[in-house]
This record gives sequence, C-alpha cells and structure tokens, in this order.
Amino acid sequence: MAAGDGEPEPAVQQRPQLQSKNVCVVGGGMAGLAAARELRREGHAVTVMEQSGDVGGQWLYDPAPTRGLVPSASSAYASLRLRTPREAMGFSDFQLLPRDGAGRDPRRFPGHREVHCYLRDFCAAFGLMDAVRLNTRVVRVAPTSTATRQWAVRSVRRLGGPEDGARAEEEEEEAVFDAVVVATGQYSHPVLPSGIEGAGEWRRRQLHSHLYRTPEPFRGEAVVVVGCGDSGTDIALDLRRVARVVHLAAGSEASTPAVSRMVANHGDVLRLHPRARRLHADGRVSFDDGSSVVADTVIYCTGYGYSFPFLDTGGAVAVGDGGCVVGPLFEHVFPPSLAPSLSFVGVPRKVLVPWFVEAQARWVAQACRGNTPTTTSTALT
Ligand SMILES: Cc1cc2nc3c(=O)[nH]c(=O)nc-3n(C[C@H](O)[C@H](O)[C@H](O)COP(=O)(O)OP(=O)(O)OC[C@H]3O[C@@H](n4cnc5c(N)ncnc54)[C@H](O)[C@@H]3O)c2cc1C
Repeated sequence: MAAGDGEPEPAVQQRPQLQSKNVCVVGGGMAGLAAARELRREGHAVTVMEQSGDVGGQWLYDPAPTRGLVPSASSAYASLRLRTPREAMGFSDFQLLPRDGAGRDPRRFPGHREVHCYLRDFCAAFGLMDAVRLNTRVVRVAPTSTATRQWAVRSVRRLGGPEDGARAEEEEEEAVFDAVVVATGQYSHPVLPSGIEGAGEWRRRQLHSHLYRTPEPFRGEAVVVVGCGDSGTDIALDLRRVARVVHLAAGSEASTPAVSRMVANHGDVLRLHPRARRLHADGRVSFDDGSSVVADTVIYCTGYGYSFPFLDTGGAVAVGDGGCVVGPLFEHVFPPSLAPSLSFVGVPRKVLVPWFVEAQARWVAQACRGNTPTTTSTALT
C-alpha cells in the first residue's frame, strides 16, 4: 500500500514514543551535574539530591572532614592540585579556562578550589542550581510496588542548625520518580589493607588518606605512609616539609621512575620500604623484608571502594570483591534488568572524567526519552 492510502508509513509506525521523565540524580559532583545538564537538554524534569552544603563533590574541600553528622564526601587535601591539565578537565562546550577574580588559579594544573569554582560556573551558565537540593542525603532508592517501573526515593534534609551537633534538625521525605541516576562518586569510602597484622591493637595514630588534610598535625613525627599511588606520593611529599622522617611502604608500585626520583630528591626525609606487614605494641612497624622502624602515625593511602548503601534493587545490581566492582552494568551504566530507569554515571576508573561522564550522561538522558537502546543480554561488565 502506498503512503497516503490511509495507512501510516512503516517508519512512522515503528518509531518509539519519546517521553519526558521525572528523574532523580543522586549526587551533585561532576558526574551528577553533567547528568542534570544532559537530562534537562532532553526535556526531562530533574531533581539533584546532594548531601553536602554545596555542589562539587571531591572538589568541595572540607577542612574538618569528621565534624559533620555525615562524614565528608571529599577526600581532597589542602595541597591537592590537578594531575590532569585544565584542558582535559572541562566539559566539551564549557572549558576550564583561566579566569580573573579573587581566589581563581590560572595555572595549567590548578589547585582543587579552581575546579570547584569551575563547577559552580558550570551550574550558573546552565541554570542548574534550581534543580539542586543541597543538604539532602538519599537514604533509600527502591522500586515502587506498582506495575510501572518507578522508584521511591527517600531522603533526609538537614534544616540548618549546628552542622556539627546532634541537634541539627532533619526532615525525611519520600518521592516517586520515573528514573534514578546514581552519581555518588567512588572516592569517599576508604579501603583499608587486610594483610597488616596488629593494626587493631596499635595504640598510636592511624588514619586513612580520606581524612588527611594538612601536614601540620604531624610536625616532628615519624610517619609511615602505606601505599604509593597518587595520594600516597602526594601526601608523603606534603609531610616531608614538617615531619622528622617519612617512611613509604609500598609494593610493586614503588618501582616507578616517579617514586625513585622522589626518594632520590628528598632522601634526607623520605625512606622507601617494602610492604608493611605488622604493627607492634612498642610502636614499631615492620616490613616484608624483616626490617622495622618506630612510628608515631600510620597513614593508609590504600584507595577507595564503591558503596551504594541506599540502593535496594533486590540484588539486580551489587557491589562485590571488597568494594572493587559494581555490576552487572551494561557498558558500566545500565543494570540490564532495570534499564533505562536506573543508571550509573561515573563508575569507570582511569578515564578522563569530564568527557567520560558527559558522554555517559548524554546516553542516559536519551535512553530515558526512549530514543536509544540501552542493553543487550551480552557484554556485561
Ligand atoms: C585526591 C583526589 C585527586 C583527584 N585528582 C583528579 C585529577 O587530577 N583529575 C581528575 O580528572 N580526577 C581526579 N580525581 C577524581 C575525581 O573524583 C573526579 O574528577 C570527579 O570529582 C568525580 O566526580 P563524581 O561526581 O563522579 O564524584 P564525586 O565528586 O565524589 O561526587 C559525588 C557526590 O555525591 C554525593 N553523595 C554521595 N552519596 C550521597 C547520598 N546518599 N545522597 C546525596 N548525595 C550523595 C557526595 O556528597 C558528592 O558530592 C581525584 C580524586 C581524588 C579523591
């Protein structure tokens, strides 16, 4: 039958119905803000729930990370500077360009505050702040009992009052959304090493790099830094300015040229050791080669794990391997049985973060409209 004979054209007949959805984004860091922007661009109604008092996630420096009712999400220390150049740290149509103004940092590898300013600029440029609910912690995300695939999102909002006191008032709320985007980051839940004996009984100071901010509290001390990744090397260099001695305990990662150069340049204070094996009651820390040193503090720069304590999917998506993996996720974004109404933005590691989360967010926004496929039953990650 020819077109115009009363039957719609096949192409028109098969085109899926495009819909605008009511979407909740959990987390107001770089990934959550990218999601909000892309969802809006596709015509969805967006609510971003952010537990902190501002957007920015890791780039919202918190000088007192243990003060609030909820531990700080940010693991940024005062001296943190970008490892990626600013050219690779902006979204595709909103570059991280040097700007004039108080507190701005024009360097190519600027400090953490510059990235926070940039994310605030991004929100202002695209009018995102009216979609953001600050001081709002999501405590449960679960499917509704209705036949339609919707999500009940329960959140707790802090209503002013002293941030550091148990007296801060809170208000609980539950709302239903058509879709939820999880963008809660991956550098807020410390992973501690399991292979170091005696750590539970050691009476001297131990902390994870998540809580490290400045070197000053360690002035004059002998500090053992466990782990030699980005945080371990940054923090060891920070400490060498005030500590009596800094012992770096590391495995294979210690054999990189960068670490060798660092130890060679600062050999007066920095000492390299094999993996830490045991903490002793007399204050000694011993290493895999049988040697030991007396330490005042041990700082674990041993990384972070995934954690989604609010998510109740009945096992459709879960965290495993001690926090190292989350899945099953098609292309690291969609749990196959729940796509596209549940998605994750910002899960992969070792990527150029802004470009990657922007692409993921665009896919999620289009998938929620129903105009792009989301899963196949194969190639799950
Ligand atoms: C020390 C350090 C240095 C880094 N350096 C670089 C670098 O040089 N270059 C680079 O590209 N990347 C770097 N990163 C990675 C950095 O994390 C990413 O650039 C980016 O911040 C990731 O954004 P995100 O939105 O995925 O996560 P986050 O920035 O962690 O944001 C997640 C947000 O979710 C919120 N949230 C969590 N749970 C809830 C809840 N239940 N309810 C409501 N809100 C919630 C948190 O408060 C937070 O604001 C670094 C990270 C760290 C820790």
